[in-house]
Amino acid sequence: MSGDYSLYIHVPFCNKKCPYCHFYVLKHRCELEELWLKRLLKEWQKVRPPNKNLLTLYLGGGTPSLLKIENLEAILEAVGGSPQEITLEANPEDVTYEKAKAWQKMGINRISMGVQSLIDSELIQLGRSHESSKAVEAVEILNRANLSNISIDLMYDLPNQNANSFKKSLDLLQTLPITHLSLYNLTLEPGTPFGRQEKELKKKTPTDEESRELYKLACQKLEAIGLLRYEISAFCKDNLRSLHNVGYWEGRPFLGLGPSAFSYWEEERYQNIPNLQKYLELEDPIHFREKLPQEAATIERFLIALRLKEGVLLNDFEKNVAPLLNETKELLALFEQRGWIEAATTCPHLTDEGLLFYDEIAAEMVCPP
Ligand code: SF4
Repeated sequence: MSGDYSLYIHVPFCNKKCPYCHFYVLKHRCELEELWLKRLLKEWQKVRPPNKNLLTLYLGGGTPSLLKIENLEAILEAVGGSPQEITLEANPEDVTYEKAKAWQKMGINRISMGVQSLIDSELIQLGRSHESSKAVEAVEILNRANLSNISIDLMYDLPNQNANSFKKSLDLLQTLPITHLSLYNLTLEPGTPFGRQEKELKKKTPTDEESRELYKLACQKLEAIGLLRYEISAFCKDNLRSLHNVGYWEGRPFLGLGPSAFSYWEEERYQNIPNLQKYLELEDPIHFREKLPQEAATIERFLIALRLKEGVLLNDFEKNVAPLLNETKELLALFEQRGWIEAATTCPHLTDEGLLFYDEIAAEMVCPP
């Protein structure tokens, strides 16, 4: 087997769980970190693919910046190869110069930081442990430590957020020397404290119409400071796209290690069990596997690729993935009439209006009316 692939490692630990978070995470404890690491390295030995090129490594979670330096070094050493991009997710409160320097020395070359907002009252509402000034300081420390490829996560649709407060966060961003930004809207997920308060929170969060305005505002403000949108929710300077995430959008195979991690390999999607204890005990930690029927898999690949600004070159897609059904092509023509996409027959891509209706496009393509 040949070709590039990506590796995602799920670090299932945080200092405390944010009330909106639906990822599988536990309170960090040093003894759990050691057990997780041992099992993770064993899992890697079992699934490591021979004769393939590891293009990107992404340490996500959870809060990978909580890991001990020697444990991170052990992971990087075991993974080996020479990935072009090694990303570590960090929380601002964990960033010290000593840690940043150690991350940089071991080969980590990209940091993705959970900033979320630069307004303290919003950070409190989100249950985050850092203040806005700490996020600003963390970016500065990372730069000093020569970790200058810095992405931040920014959230909108927050309770009590309006165009003015969001504008303030976006204005404060202007001075930060970041290269990338991922924009997320808050979703009230079942099973989380925010999900349980859905009725109450819905009264305070922006309406769909307001949310679209906030998204448009973000695109304008970010583009004005050179952070250009290259995917619905991803912006970068100097074309410093996230190579790892571009792999998800382009269908590059990836392996996921650790509890709850997803993999996509040989057209099959599978997930490890989202339970640390069981992950530690089970010989095979996979608890879910799915191989979509070809038509559904083709539509899914197409929709994911459509998220990219440049859209999907149909000739290439049909040659490398599979031909689109006539029914799908008719829907693309309809979306073009609605002004949601352009170049439907050659290189369909979302218009500014279509960006706001991607979910509707996806729903209609998956279940045609
Ligand atoms: S820090 Fe991130 S992963 Fe951890 S609980 Fe908060 S949102 Fe979830």
